[in-house]
Amino acid sequence: MTDIQTIPPPQKILPKQIEDLTLLDEVVERTAGVSRLEMCIQCGTCGGSCPSAADMDHTPRMLFAMLRAGMRRDALMSNTFWICVSCYHCVVRCPQNVHIADVMYTLKGMAIEAKLYQDSTAPDFSQTFVDMVEEYGRSFEFGLATRHYLKHFPLRLPSMAPMGLGMLAKERMAMTPKRIKNIKQLKAILKRAKQVEADVHDKAIYRRSQEAKHG
Ligand code: SF4
Ligand code: SF4
Repeated sequence: MTDIQTIPPPQKILPKQIEDLTLLDEVVERTAGVSRLEMCIQCGTCGGSCPSAADMDHTPRMLFAMLRAGMRRDALMSNTFWICVSCYHCVVRCPQNVHIADVMYTLKGMAIEAKLYQDSTAPDFSQTFVDMVEEYGRSFEFGLATRHYLKHFPLRLPSMAPMGLGMLAKERMAMTPKRIKNIKQLKAILKRAKQVEADVHDKAIYRRSQEAKHG
């Protein structure tokens, strides 16, 4: 039987450890719906299923381990969520039903907020895409590509022209944007979603400040 006097006293939790625990919590809280991120068992199925894994700094599995370890800066500097194309292969194969693609969106937002990213054009591309979806209710590829290349890579535009013209000719891309029906409804939904996101964000900041105060 264990001698009660040999049981070590509870260890004091250091501020760094509190920070480590709250990074994962923060990502969970900021992800829309239920992320199940805390259920990740590090099996690696996600990275093995991902068509973009070869270009990623870290596979989703590695990235989630970094979040658990509180490596905020390294995790938010990773190119992984910018390379993610939201194909959902990993999501359908994850044995723990972790909503990996949704977590990728959360990390993009956090990286933009913290101004931590390697490729400074990626957040701008993302924002232009979001602006177009908000305006038309869908992506407008021709406008998106043209605006992005004109702004960031004007000298590369001529080399992209043949591909763009080919897609236009085969009607794989439209020359002008088409707005969806009921765009007002979509705008109302997006407005509400932004309010919910802002509330969650404020609550997370408040909780972290309380934890730091009483930690
Ligand atoms: S497949 Fe799911 S459980 Fe496995 S490492 Fe990826 S996120 Fe974690
Ligand atoms: S959703 Fe993203 S992370 Fe998952 S398999 Fe597709 S590209 Fe990879």
